Amino acid sequence: MSETIALLPGDGVGPEVMRAAAGVLARVRPDVTCEEALVGGAALERGLPALPDATRALCERSAAILFGSVGLPQYEGKPLERRPELALFLLRRDFELFANIRPVRVFPGLEDASSLRPELVTGLDLIVVRELTGGIYYGKPKEQRTVEGVDEAVDTMIYRAPEVERIARIGFELARGRRKRLTSVDKQNILETSRLWRRVVDDVARDYPEVALEHLLVDNAAMQLVRRPGDFDVIVTENMFGDILSDEAAILTGSIGTLPSASLGARGRPGRQFGLYEPVAGSAPDIAGKGIANPTAAILSAAMLLRYSLDDEASAARIERAVEGVYRDGGRTAELARGAKVLSTKAFAGEVAARL
Ligand code: NAD
Repeated sequence: MSETIALLPGDGVGPEVMRAAAGVLARVRPDVTCEEALVGGAALERGLPALPDATRALCERSAAILFGSVGLPQYEGKPLERRPELALFLLRRDFELFANIRPVRVFPGLEDASSLRPELVTGLDLIVVRELTGGIYYGKPKEQRTVEGVDEAVDTMIYRAPEVERIARIGFELARGRRKRLTSVDKQNILETSRLWRRVVDDVARDYPEVALEHLLVDNAAMQLVRRPGDFDVIVTENMFGDILSDEAAILTGSIGTLPSASLGARGRPGRQFGLYEPVAGSAPDIAGKGIANPTAAILSAAMLLRYSLDDEASAARIERAVEGVYRDGGRTAELARGAKVLSTKAFAGEVAARL
């Protein structure tokens, strides 16, 4: 049966890198139907909402979403309701995309581009799993108020055991399919939510005896990530810690343009989960329209889509090997070139396709 993928290119470099990714996807899986729809600023500029009804309907009937990026300079500073970024917020909320998965890999040949010493990042290959729909970003009360003449503000960190359990399971499942090491990050010496987190993670661990589990306090985890990044396999953590640690992990590689991500939801089963796949980076208005954006993140997002939503590990691995081959052979887009020959977005994608 033909699967439908919703292609949402969005703004800035989004359409450029999405073209590259869709081309690679079509090459490995010509049976998959890709349908394109407007999202973000591209929709707002046509007088439509950031997430038009037709786009939402396409997502509803698709196996997964391949997303470019949203954000245009002319909407900066406007309230969220009138900004392109609202589309992502709505998709995450309405499709209950609670697990953000960010693989961080340093490709052979790119070790020198990292801000850490090459020997620390050689062979680096880890995944950060961040809880995306709970914790302090969403807990109530959340407000600014004046009490007895003094301004104050409150945010509430709250987790329910089932929210912890489902994200922990994603972490264990991923670790089981890799090097079988899971690091759970919390702040259990201070936070009650972290004590619950650790207890639930320990409970889930009983179902995965083959996975070695370690607990790290978040401050220590932040240090160890730059001290011994190669020791990590899968890291699972709550929303705010994950927000910070996943960006810290991201800079271990040389370019944000290489980093893909998946946001998985409650629909489906392992290997067949509904998900939204997108580059970690934004719409990069500074380089948009020049044809020089690095398409690696978008191409690797398509590979993740195959792995987690279409249960097609073989095609996912083929794409990843092809990207690795381009870097090994010295292929570089502008931001990584440092004097070497520069490949355009299209030329880089062509090099990937040639290795498939
Ligand atoms: P950005 O990630 O777009 O860009 C940061 C830097 O990384 C820029 O120098 C850019 O040129 C570079 N970069 C990004 N993607 C690249 C690629 N593929 N190849 C080479 N270099 C690349 O962050 P920003 O400038 O802070 O934000 C721009 C817009 O994107 C804003 O409107 C923001 O709200 C939006 N944004 C969207 C998303 C998303 O769609 N998920 C995420 C982050 C930011």
